[in-house]
Amino acid sequence: MEYRIALVKGDGIGPEIVESAVAVLEKTGAAFGHRFSFTAYPAGGCAIDACGEPLPRETVEGCLAADSVLLGAVGGPKWDGLSGDRRPEKALLGLRAALGLYTNLRPAKLYPALAGKCPLRADITAKGFDLLMVRELTGGIYFGERGRREGKFGPEAYDTEAYSVMEIERIARVAFDAARKRSGRVTSIDKANVLETSRLWRETVHRVAEEYPDVTVEDMLVDNAAMQLVRDPSRFDVVVTTNMFGDILSDEASQITGSIGLLPSASLGEGTRGLYEPIHGSAPDIAGTGKANPTATILSAAMMLRYSFGLGKEADVIERAVDEALLAGCRTADIAAPGEKMLTCAEMTEEVLERI
Ligand code: NAD
Repeated sequence: MEYRIALVKGDGIGPEIVESAVAVLEKTGAAFGHRFSFTAYPAGGCAIDACGEPLPRETVEGCLAADSVLLGAVGGPKWDGLSGDRRPEKALLGLRAALGLYTNLRPAKLYPALAGKCPLRADITAKGFDLLMVRELTGGIYFGERGRREGKFGPEAYDTEAYSVMEIERIARVAFDAARKRSGRVTSIDKANVLETSRLWRETVHRVAEEYPDVTVEDMLVDNAAMQLVRDPSRFDVVVTTNMFGDILSDEASQITGSIGLLPSASLGEGTRGLYEPIHGSAPDIAGTGKANPTATILSAAMMLRYSFGLGKEADVIERAVDEALLAGCRTADIAAPGEKMLTCAEMTEEVLERI
């Protein structure tokens, strides 16, 4: 099979880490008899410099024509002074909207070899954890009506949280489908003791759950979930939640894994096309120094194989190669303990390639 992949390398360390993932995809493709073709498109700060806008039409059209999209990261101090719509980050929101992506999947897993980097106590990390956060991406308070007005106590601002049954149903199905491929457990997170949107969320999730008798579902209030994530992250498998709760909890989950340089993500919509990217930013402080950890982007490419192309075996091979490289002691600067040998981005990529 031939798969067409749009590359949006972006800024800072974006180009280095995307090149690493491309090398890994090429080697995996050769091993399994698949052809991946790559076309690069500008977005973010580099697109502002080249075309005067963060998300040129050519990029949107190229991504829409591709089978999937691999993104590095956008942004950097050079463009920090720009206003709202002209900022590099606008490219991300624009791409998500253009591709109709409403689901964000973020796995957060503790690698036993890196348990020492986890900020949690050893008795908690000893149990390990491997969870998948499913965040709704296009609804809720980030997209609701907002504004300023004159209130009871003078000038005030407001933001509105709204969720439709349809939006909740479709994200719940993503979570239940994912749970079927994992341990069959879903934790649905809301604030149903206070919010009406959460009460609708809870009702709807339970109605969808009836279609999945093989999956168990539990409800958890968001404040409790924030506690449980640091108290006993091993109790979670698939977690499904709203846009804002997911934004906050997925960052909390990423921190307890030890390094953001390890964590991939996928954004999905109705079809099979998705947008795959590391969860970290463009790390301008280390761009061009060779210190970038390519792992999160390599694992994002593995997610693309699994979720967009249905190539689960091939994704397993990449994930196992990363596991083995870490177990063998391969470390980039962000995950090296004091005194440990530090590999460059290219050397780390080579270690993963050797294990495919
Ligand atoms: P960041 O994630 O880029 O960096 C935070 C820290 O983590 C830095 O010290 C950095 O060196 C380190 N780091 C990040 N990725 C790493 C990797 N792969 N290997 C080793 N170390 C890594 O966050 P920031 O500094 O707040 O943001 C920098 C720029 O990135 C900003 O312009 C921001 O807007 C943008 N950003 C983009 C995205 C995206 O494109 N999805 C996401 C977040 C931030």
